[in-house]
Amino acid sequence: MKVFNTLTRRKEEFKTLVPGEVKMYVCGPTVYDLFHIGNARTFIVFDTIRRYLEFRGYKVKFVQNFTDIDDKMIKRANNEAITVKDLGDKYIKEYYKDADGLRLKRATINPRATEFIKEIISFVEGLIARGYAYEVNGDVYFSTKHFSGYGKLSGQNIEDLQAGARIDIDERKKDPMDFAVWKAQKPGEPAWESPWGMGRPGWHIECSCMAKNLLGETIDIHAGGSDLIFPHHENEIAQSEALTGKSFANYWIHCAFLNINNQKMSKSLNNFFTVRDILEKYNPEVLRFLMLSGHYRTQLNFSNELLDSAASSMERLYNALNNLQHLYDNSLFTALKSGEEAYIKTLDGYRNKFMEKMDDDFNTADGISVIFDLVKDINTNITVEASKELIEVAMKLIRELGEPLGILQEDKKVNLEEEIEALIEKRQQARKERNWALADEIRDDLKARGIILEDTPQGVRWKREN
Ligand code: AMP
Ligand code: ZN
Repeated sequence: MKVFNTLTRRKEEFKTLVPGEVKMYVCGPTVYDLFHIGNARTFIVFDTIRRYLEFRGYKVKFVQNFTDIDDKMIKRANNEAITVKDLGDKYIKEYYKDADGLRLKRATINPRATEFIKEIISFVEGLIARGYAYEVNGDVYFSTKHFSGYGKLSGQNIEDLQAGARIDIDERKKDPMDFAVWKAQKPGEPAWESPWGMGRPGWHIECSCMAKNLLGETIDIHAGGSDLIFPHHENEIAQSEALTGKSFANYWIHCAFLNINNQKMSKSLNNFFTVRDILEKYNPEVLRFLMLSGHYRTQLNFSNELLDSAASSMERLYNALNNLQHLYDNSLFTALKSGEEAYIKTLDGYRNKFMEKMDDDFNTADGISVIFDLVKDINTNITVEASKELIEVAMKLIRELGEPLGILQEDKKVNLEEEIEALIEKRQQARKERNWALADEIRDDLKARGIILEDTPQGVRWKREN
């Protein structure tokens, strides 16, 4: 299996520290709001990589953190007039609602930064003791000059970084490239006791510390969105390797950004979608399909058209499954017939082809094409003459290849149109029975999903709200 490693900038053969096991750390969300579809891309991609590693027989220990203390958390908590702790509790709950909705497999552990304050403090003490960090009036900074490998992940030397990066000028730092590993308390901020006075951890240190405590000093995979390469992951490497003297992560995997209609998604541009917005109107498998239909290292340009085309692709795949079910129910032959064994070999060939694509740096786009080729072959070759046994093999194979992608796992066909028609039918019935409350409720439910009803003399019509 080959994996593209950001650190070496090439595809490398994937070899784990312990045979058959993967220790994987993914940078998770800052829990100050609902997560958006950009975050969702990153989460879906790494969920798929994890699922595929499991598909290939690895046991994966998957850690994804919650950043529950930082400037954004503090600001938002102040705005909502609640504590930072309550804000974290609230949005972690909301995170699980959406993550479960997207069929993200639960992580082995989802640690919160604030649960690791003691460990973070001793990490920082270790850095100071080794001469990699220094204290100034209650703040502690990491001295980037002392870490000779600084810049190796983003492929820049310190001089380039200094020239190119927007770095906050801070008189207290010995060098502008130094970064805070511990921050002294400011008025009104939550803080913990430390050898440097009351304060809180810097952002980068939490991931170095939790990865070390939960997975070990060296891990197999460290992952996140491409915006994290610099400075977040660069700084994590510096801290971790300075402390342990060992290589921190063997493979660095980064997911490219999701943009909207070729623009950066942002609240001010009014092109900002939460996962919740999308899941109200589309099946989660449609969103997963869309996210995985391109390669994870290529930028993805999100649009409504892409969503609708993902929905119709999924519908084609489910149609094939439904046809097979229909053939199965009507087949007159139970056991394999002569010649069918050979066809099963042909089907197995698609599994191999799928793995060949996915083994090549998790090429989900090509993996999906293999599933379409498989479905086409099945549609042509499995007919009313086929045995139940063969039909079952075919159905199982389609679902098996969908599993690592988190698609094709629904019992029933994913068909939004049918669902809407059924609800409209139910509303008509309610109106006939003069149950106005139920009729209105259905109309409002549909409206919440972006479906507008029009009562015309020819009957009810519906359209999507724009
Ligand atoms: P945050 O809550 O901003 O720390 O982000 C959580 C994860 O989502 C990180 O791994 C980010 O790199 C990733 N992320 C944020 N925005 C996007 C985007 N537009 N496209 C892809 N990934 C993103
Ligand atoms: Zn991180």
